[in-house]
Amino acid sequence: MTGRTHDLAAITALLAVVCLFVPIYNLSLSTLLIAILANQIGGILPDIDQPTAPLWRNLPVGKTIGRIFDKSIGGHRFITHSLLGIALFGFLFWTLLTFLHPIMSNVDNVVVWWAFIIGIISHLIMDSFTKEGVPWLLPLPMKFGLPPVKALRMTTGKAVETLLVFPGLVIASGLLIATHYNYLLQLLHHV
Ligand SMILES: [Zn+2]
Repeated sequence: MTGRTHDLAAITALLAVVCLFVPIYNLSLSTLLIAILANQIGGILPDIDQPTAPLWRNLPVGKTIGRIFDKSIGGHRFITHSLLGIALFGFLFWTLLTFLHPIMSNVDNVVVWWAFIIGIISHLIMDSFTKEGVPWLLPLPMKFGLPPVKALRMTTGKAVETLLVFPGLVIASGLLIATHYNYLLQLLHHV
């Protein structure tokens, strides 16, 4: 999956969870903005195991660091693409949020943390639809994909992704916003 598909999938997943599963919740504007940011970071974070990941590309010596990092964590689609990786990222992110809490006291850490985790999970689900599959159960070495028959899965950046998946996510987000507009407005209304 390309980075932009992951970005869009992360925000669509966040919208879906918020609109379909979360009861009315009073959010501060800072919580909302930081949660969206955390969600977008979570959505692309598993791909830090690729030397060509946006994070590395944008750093001055990023490509070299990316290559070393790639080797040291087992190559592409390894630990960062597993349940173990989600747990590790989740732990590190919670530690970071706890550390930052004194300067972000009006931010709801639980909401931000869940937005981040939803981003990561959406990444792993989206990658599961590609031929390569995802090693969900590491250290068990097998990769899983949807559908299980590899030939029916898609190739990153090819027609199915750009012509079907990406527009599909745009429509899904649009529909969620349109059908839950009043609810989304109420999220920011304070009592
Ligand atoms: Zn990935």
